[in-house]
Amino acid sequence: MKKAKDIMNINNLSRVVIGVALVLVLVVLILLFVRRDGDVPGITADGVHTSVVVVASGDTLSKLLTDQGFTNAQVLEIAKVLKSDADITSLRATRDKLEFVRPDADSPVSKVVIIPSPWRRVEITCTPDGVWQCNTIDIQPDKRAVYRAGEILDGDSFYLAGARAGIPDGILAEVYDLLAFEMDFERDVRAGQKFSVLYEENFADGKKIDNGRVLAIQFEALRGNVKMYRFKKSDGKTGYYDENGNGAIKSLKRTPINNAKVTSSFSNRRKHPVLGYTRAHKGVDFRASTGTPIPAAGAGRVVARGYNNGHGNYIKLRHNSSYETLYAHMSRFAKGVVVGTTVKQGQTIGYVGSTGLSTGPHLHYEIIKDGKHVNPMTVKLPAISNLDAADKEKFLEYRKTLDAGIEHLAQHPNWFIQL
Ligand SMILES: [Zn+2]
Repeated sequence: MKKAKDIMNINNLSRVVIGVALVLVLVVLILLFVRRDGDVPGITADGVHTSVVVVASGDTLSKLLTDQGFTNAQVLEIAKVLKSDADITSLRATRDKLEFVRPDADSPVSKVVIIPSPWRRVEITCTPDGVWQCNTIDIQPDKRAVYRAGEILDGDSFYLAGARAGIPDGILAEVYDLLAFEMDFERDVRAGQKFSVLYEENFADGKKIDNGRVLAIQFEALRGNVKMYRFKKSDGKTGYYDENGNGAIKSLKRTPINNAKVTSSFSNRRKHPVLGYTRAHKGVDFRASTGTPIPAAGAGRVVARGYNNGHGNYIKLRHNSSYETLYAHMSRFAKGVVVGTTVKQGQTIGYVGSTGLSTGPHLHYEIIKDGKHVNPMTVKLPAISNLDAADKEKFLEYRKTLDAGIEHLAQHPNWFIQL
């Protein structure tokens, strides 16, 4: 574990408050325990016996409970309570964990705890009159913002550089997805460029459980510094915004397939690889292997799906009154995607192939704006949402605080911000 420290005064204060709260909770727990000892004779703190079972494939609640000595009637009653009070009807193999608590090793189970996630405990306890009760406890993660920074080296990809900087895979994939709205990884990424990511780590009882969300991204792209911040609007919805408060999530993606190499860019004149003569290339080609899923660049509706000699299998989507996108050379279409289907951004519409006039498996991607082909890599794309005046003001304040935090962390990369 790395050395960790708070960096903001306000957080030191909140830490003191948390400290006091923890002491109080402990006192209350001790008091409760002492009282319970009094109420239920025979139960002592050191005699409590707990066994933990991880649900294996083929396990059912009924089997696991029967194994622990429950009668059929009790199994039915517990199943009923679990369904009505915790909405649990089945167990998931290798994911769910069960705890069986006995007052002592030889007594029947007095409490069953189902742990469906690190952030949820469902406790089923037996009252003195033999009735089983269910109680769900939501555990709030202790959230920390951590900072990782890296640099693109010669011959590097953003993925390699990100992994070297210690950014976990899941976070890196999310960062890539977000940056793909602003950047063309093929042309914008060069050796010497620096980047940084601020993201959440979730802790429980001082132990890291998983990663949370991406909070801020900076990338020194060729076309300028790209910055994105996660921000919650007053209506409760969260989104990513650039440093001026403009929506960073665009209605369309420049590169629908992540990490695919551009093999031919948009041009008004190029020598066609199959036809041999010069003609305009009205889209961008991305190299990808046959069968790679092709996600919709933006939310929209399928307006064409078919085959022609040039495009092979292709799909055209209409996104709004001015934008359309086209995807060509597909090996096949996604199931259920037909003319008229409404698709979400990122939804698979088909699979990479080499149908039509094509020299090898690739995606040919076009953006059509008001009926005219535009260069997907340079066209200015509309943002999905922008902030209203009040939210914008709040955002700019928040951004200042976050920037100050990031600046601190840049100097002390092993510190974190307590959220
Ligand atoms: Zn092409």
